[in-house]
Amino acid sequence: MIKADYHMHSHFSGDSTEPMELMVQSAIQKGLTHICFTEHMDMDYPVSDKTPEGMFLLNTDSYLYDLLKLKNKYAEQIKVAFGVELGIQPHLQKELAVYARSFEFDFIIGSTHVVKREDPYYPSFYEGKTEEEAYRSYFEENLLNLKKFQNFDVYGHLDYVVRYGTYQDANYSYDKYKDLFDQMLTLLLEKEKGIELNTGSLRRGTKDVSPCTDVLKRYKELGGEIITIGSDAHTAADIAADFDRAEEILKSCGFKYYSVFENRMAEYKKLG
Ligand SMILES: [Zn+2]
Ligand SMILES: [Zn+2]
Repeated sequence: MIKADYHMHSHFSGDSTEPMELMVQSAIQKGLTHICFTEHMDMDYPVSDKTPEGMFLLNTDSYLYDLLKLKNKYAEQIKVAFGVELGIQPHLQKELAVYARSFEFDFIIGSTHVVKREDPYYPSFYEGKTEEEAYRSYFEENLLNLKKFQNFDVYGHLDYVVRYGTYQDANYSYDKYKDLFDQMLTLLLEKEKGIELNTGSLRRGTKDVSPCTDVLKRYKELGGEIITIGSDAHTAADIAADFDRAEEILKSCGFKYYSVFENRMAEYKKLG
């Protein structure tokens, strides 16, 4: 059983209202031994009526203060790690590098949430584009971000855009975007960075996890070993959601281990 959830958001993230302590308690109840909070830090996120200025800016000092209290309180039952999900945009290279070095994070997920001032979360991203154009523009931005930014441990939900496309993963496959995925995976391996298996897409109706099984398989085939599992929970109830499925998929791809991180160092845990 996978016992570590390395992607979750409490009320310190602009899109969650869940108290951290409830999440820690839920993780313990579900039999997890390790969790990592990965609160959103998206600098220069586009402002709209739905997303006021600073919505995804993290108050990292207060977050760390509360996290340390819980980490100590529950130390006998579970390991709680200090993480962040950093929203990468090409023009933020310097600011992000400074921020990543300013705190002693255990774990950093790099994520593309914004492509040329638009978040694929909103339908407007797809207007005037075919599905393939929309997906490609997201993957191209991922690739650019990977070229520009280094200070992360795993790259998050490599095919995030697929969650929100009109037909989601009905017509989508690794093969269709193989050219871009192979470049992304090769770059990650060169930099000795990992990826995550994110089960959050399943709760939004996709058939497969994120990135899709064939991308995970390709990563393994190319020599990838560092992989964390994350529910992307924004509520206590969603912690470790679909982890049985995640385990089956990882085994089917040939993975024998998954990773947890402490002080930015990977530690390997045996699957099953
Ligand atoms: Zn994300
Ligand atoms: Zn997330």
